[in-house]
Amino acid sequence: MAMSITVAIIGRPNVGKSTLFNRLVGQRLALVDDKPGVTRDRREGEANLFGLEFRVFDTAGLEEIFDSSLEGRMRAQTERALADADLALLVIDARAGITALDEHFARWLRRSGKPVALVANKCEGRLVETGLGDAYSLGLGQAIPLSAEHGLGMSDLYDAVAAVAGTAVQEELPPEGAEEAEEGADEFGGVLQLAVVGRPNVGKSTLVNKLLGEERLLTGPEAGITRDSIAIDWTFQDRPLRLVDTAGLRRKARVTEKLEKLSIQDTLRAIRFAQVVVLLLDVDEGLEKQDLSIARMVVDEGRALVIGVNKWDACRERDAALAGIRDRLERSLPQTRGIPVVTLSALQGHNIDNLMKAVIQAYDVWNRRVGTADLNRWLEAVTAAHPPPAVNGRRVRLKYMTQAKTRPPTFAIFASKPQELPTSYLRYLENGLRDAFDLPGTPIRINFRKGDNPYAGRKKKANKRTR
Ligand code: GDP
Ligand code: GDP
Repeated sequence: MAMSITVAIIGRPNVGKSTLFNRLVGQRLALVDDKPGVTRDRREGEANLFGLEFRVFDTAGLEEIFDSSLEGRMRAQTERALADADLALLVIDARAGITALDEHFARWLRRSGKPVALVANKCEGRLVETGLGDAYSLGLGQAIPLSAEHGLGMSDLYDAVAAVAGTAVQEELPPEGAEEAEEGADEFGGVLQLAVVGRPNVGKSTLVNKLLGEERLLTGPEAGITRDSIAIDWTFQDRPLRLVDTAGLRRKARVTEKLEKLSIQDTLRAIRFAQVVVLLLDVDEGLEKQDLSIARMVVDEGRALVIGVNKWDACRERDAALAGIRDRLERSLPQTRGIPVVTLSALQGHNIDNLMKAVIQAYDVWNRRVGTADLNRWLEAVTAAHPPPAVNGRRVRLKYMTQAKTRPPTFAIFASKPQELPTSYLRYLENGLRDAFDLPGTPIRINFRKGDNPYAGRKKKANKRTR
């Protein structure tokens, strides 16, 4: 059984530490006495994030039991929590921006030498760019945008915790035989998180209104529906879906001003909050440079991409337009062959079903798990057909392969001298994997490890990790 790590949630009052704690611990939370004047112990609980289990401390409220200076109180509570932690999550309020206390915490944590992940909470709406940009100045790297209240951005948080939990190579690997086990329900209870992005005026609002107008199933204020319409739940053909980050669209719909600029920050946030991203194009304008940079962001963030070619009703040169888009896509994103392209008319409600079917299919591919035995048979065949190049007269040997995780499909290959493999060979493996295991259009990650089969001679591990 892998050792579980301990995570401390740290930050000044009111940034959302308790909210994050509650989200991580959920119903396993031991109730605490919240009456004023009652000394609270720090809360701790068993967190479960995408199946990754760890202990978590919430340091909120502890400041009340100290009566020295504010800074001193902060420090005391932080010190105690930090002593036991393997990772500190420094939470800031992206809406409020960086305060002197945040800076104090950051400085102090940097000096502690503990791994720290910076979490920018309350990121669900717009107007948080400033906070996020300033956050970088804390010297703790890029902030993870999060909305603890709405459960958005949790997959990036997972990555941060998993990076600390899995410092040993073995920890990144699923237990042998995991692929035979059924993939556990994901952290959203199987709800597919979808974002619609694209340049202004391509028809995003029209599409979203059509989607929601047709099969609308709002689930009440507690399930993510808020005044800002941050996340909207509905179903498509019995499939639960959540449309994330529609706040921008809503606001826009009310304003008649059309000369809006594309906000890269907004787009990036929507992508991070989603699992599948629909990049909507205007067929008359084709796939432009900005569209390609959005497409690259989606792939780089490891999300599944579907291209929607809108305003098909108004297009005259249909064949040429579509061929142009497909061609540009293949040439510009050669490492992600097979990205689905669906033509539609949001205005007329035409082909929206097909768009949604492509979304669901892309999600399924993104979640696909390939068996270890099949992977190794495949690895043997492709390296025999086209061996890796020799370096100083000695061949790089690819010895063993396994799928380390899904969402997106991520593989680990154990090799001698993995650093010597040229990019062209990596492409060869990626494309081969796509074809052999039916993984069209999804980002594929291959991580090379030095060494042999990590399972050889090792006892089977009992812990189960799915994501
Ligand atoms: P703590 O003092 O750091 O533990 O903060 P709390 O968890 O008590 O949250 C402080 C306030 O921020 C509460 O009113 C929460 O409802 C609110 N809050 C927490 N998370 C979010 C979020 O993601 N978005 C927004 N808008 N508010 C949040
Ligand atoms: P957004 O800025 O991406 O949200 O775009 P809107 O949804 O506001 O649409 C911009 C304009 O394109 C509006 O005038 C829409 O009526 C029009 N539009 C949207 N979808 C279609 C479509 O499928 N066909 C045609 N002909 N026009 C469309």
